[in-house]
Amino acid sequence: MGNNTAWALRALTDQDLLARLSELTAQERGCAAEVVEHLMEVDRRDLSLDNGYSSLFEYCVSKLGYSRQAAYFRIRAARAAAEFPELLERLRSGALQLDAVVRLCPHLKDDNKEQLLAQADGKTDREIRSLVAALQIQPAPERDVIIAVSARRPDPVPTDASSTPAQGPGDQKVQIIDPPQHRFHFTGDDELFSMINRLRGLLRHKYPDGRIEAIFKEAAGELLERLDRTRRSKPGATDQTAPAPKAARRGSRLVPRAVKRRVWERDGGRCAYVAKDGRRCESHDALEYDHIVAWADGGRSDLADNIRLLCRPHNQWLGRRRFGNRREKP
Ligand SMILES: [Zn+2]
Repeated sequence: MGNNTAWALRALTDQDLLARLSELTAQERGCAAEVVEHLMEVDRRDLSLDNGYSSLFEYCVSKLGYSRQAAYFRIRAARAAAEFPELLERLRSGALQLDAVVRLCPHLKDDNKEQLLAQADGKTDREIRSLVAALQIQPAPERDVIIAVSARRPDPVPTDASSTPAQGPGDQKVQIIDPPQHRFHFTGDDELFSMINRLRGLLRHKYPDGRIEAIFKEAAGELLERLDRTRRSKPGATDQTAPAPKAARRGSRLVPRAVKRRVWERDGGRCAYVAKDGRRCESHDALEYDHIVAWADGGRSDLADNIRLLCRPHNQWLGRRRFGNRREKP
C-alpha cells in the first residue's frame, strides 16, 4: 500500500502535492491538540493510577509508547491547558506549537496571559525564547536531565583535568553502546564537587581513569545496599506510622515490624496496586504501608493480610477515592 501511495503521490502536480501536505499538517495539529485534550481528561479522572501506572508520565511512556520527551511535552501542555484553556485553541489552529506552549506555560499568569499569548501567536521557537527573555521573566530553574544515549558516542575526556591522569587525543574513541546507556546532566555545588574528587582519589586503585560514572555507580550501589539492609531490619523506615516496640500492641494503628517485614517480602518491595485488567504497578519508589481495610474502619495492623505496600501516588489516590474527593479542576 505504501508503494501505491508513493506512485499516487508521484502523479500529483507540484501544487496539489503542496496543498495536500498543508492539509495533512493541519490534521496533524488538530490531532495533537486532541491528544492534549484527552490527556487533560485522563489526568482529571486519574485514569493512569486507576490502570496500574504510578503517574500519567509512566502511562504515556509505557502504555502509549511516547518517548520521554514527547510524553513530557504533552503532559506539560495538558496541565497548562487545564489552567489556561486558551492554549488548546492555539494548538489546534497552529498559532502555537507544542514546544512553544511548554516554553511559555511556566510564565503564564492570569494577569499577563492575554498580552503574552497575543505576542506569542505564530512565532517561531527562537522568537518565543527571546519573547520570554525580553519580558525579563525568570526562566524556570533547570531540571536534572537524563538522556538515553543512542548507538554510538565518542568516549569523552573526564571534565576535571586537575585530578585526572592526562588523556591523549588517541584515547578518544567511538564505542558501541550495548546495553543502552544514559547521559546524566545535573548541576551540583562545590561540596559535591569536592566529594567526587575525594572519592576519585580514594578509588584511584580501582578506577585509574577516575570516571564519574564509575564513582557514582559505586556510591549508589553502597547506598542501596545500606538502605536495603536498613529496610530488612526495620521495614518501612519511610513510614510515619513507625517504630516503637509498643507499636506492636494489638489495636494500634501502627504496623509492627514483623508484619512490615513479611509484607515487604510478600510484595517484593514493590507497589501492590493491581488494576482491573490485572496490570500491577511497577513502582519501587516512595513505598508506604497501607491498611487494606482502614484502621478507622476496624482494619487490623497486626495482620499481614490487611497490610500492603503502595507507592505514594497510589496510596494518596486511593485515600482520595476512599474519602470521595476526586480531584476537580476548574
Ligand atoms: Zn503504585
